[in-house]
Amino acid sequence: MYENEKKEIIKTALLLKEYRLIALSGGNVSFRTQKGHVLATPSGMLYETMVPEDVVVLNIDGNIIEGTRRVSVDIEAILYILKNIPEVNAVIHTHQVYASAVGLVEDELPAAVTTLPNACLGPVTVAPYSSAASLEMGITTVKYINNKRAVILKNHGVITVGGTLKEALYAAVYLEDAAKTYIMAKSIGTPAILDAEQVEVAVEKFRPEKYGQN
Ligand SMILES: [Zn+2]
Repeated sequence: MYENEKKEIIKTALLLKEYRLIALSGGNVSFRTQKGHVLATPSGMLYETMVPEDVVVLNIDGNIIEGTRRVSVDIEAILYILKNIPEVNAVIHTHQVYASAVGLVEDELPAAVTTLPNACLGPVTVAPYSSAASLEMGITTVKYINNKRAVILKNHGVITVGGTLKEALYAAVYLEDAAKTYIMAKSIGTPAILDAEQVEVAVEKFRPEKYGQN
């Protein structure tokens, strides 16, 4: 069941690893299918050893439909996000270093480079602390994501979302680059921040009908 989608989830997780956004078995990747089932990575497994059968299939209420692995400990939060943001089908959670570092100091990662609004649809809010592996982490995400594709979880990491896994992946990778650039700029002066109109243009230019291949 959902062989292709499971492979896509593992491929996404391996790309997150390649871009150094996750390490060992940290973070997770989830996807809601057209039929409304939720596929989620298992708890505490190295992504490079993961095979499609390791990805767990659940219904939106958290009952396991298929799979023998223990599902990600963040599943309550993931299901809450999917239930409460209907246009979101993909959820990625990472402990990416640079975005998390910004979250320890700032209340928001401002749009200083165009790639941030390209992929995350604007500046990214830092949500107050919530415990890992808790429903509260999902509630906090929904409350602070502000129709963007990412939120920074203070003292923890990042959640990115999208209609597709690709959108959530781009949000995570470009968020990290933007955070890194922002931190480097701050170390030598005051970063120039894009104004609202420039942010809007950057969002528009990256819409799927304009950017990339069909
Ligand atoms: Zn975590």
